[in-house]
Amino acid sequence: MLATKKKVLAMNQDKAKELVESNFPVLAMAMGLDNWKITIQYDRLDNGTAGLCSVSPQYMRATIQIDTEQQEDEADLADTLLHESFHILQAEQKIYMDAVDEVIGNEDAKKALDQLRIFGDERLVVNLMTMLKRIGLDMKQIIRLYKKQSALKQ
Ligand SMILES: [Zn+2]
Repeated sequence: MLATKKKVLAMNQDKAKELVESNFPVLAMAMGLDNWKITIQYDRLDNGTAGLCSVSPQYMRATIQIDTEQQEDEADLADTLLHESFHILQAEQKIYMDAVDEVIGNEDAKKALDQLRIFGDERLVVNLMTMLKRIGLDMKQIIRLYKKQSALKQ
């Protein structure tokens, strides 16, 4: 989940889809997600939620939901896409939590553990995004570097 606190200026949905569809396949390759079946959906999400990611690690399937009305501009949308893509890399956590859910009967304990997992997942992704920003890498730069590396290998 990517929460936005900014003043929100909705992006034009066609423009947003164009940006996602023209960049996401290469971003997924750059992130090593090329064996995943990833669906991008454009949905209205709760206020303050710009994107969501759900995963089925057993089947290597993921769905990224993007609320184009909660993206400020292209850079914001690119950050949302990158942020949600990082969550796919944490997919195995879901297998662990599903196993924990099986052995814990107490609903309050399940809820508390799930909150801890979500907190840990978000902190990791937020820290990765901060690191990338500090070293000057955004989605477009990652894609550009990946294409350059791929060309060098051929
Ligand atoms: Zn998140």
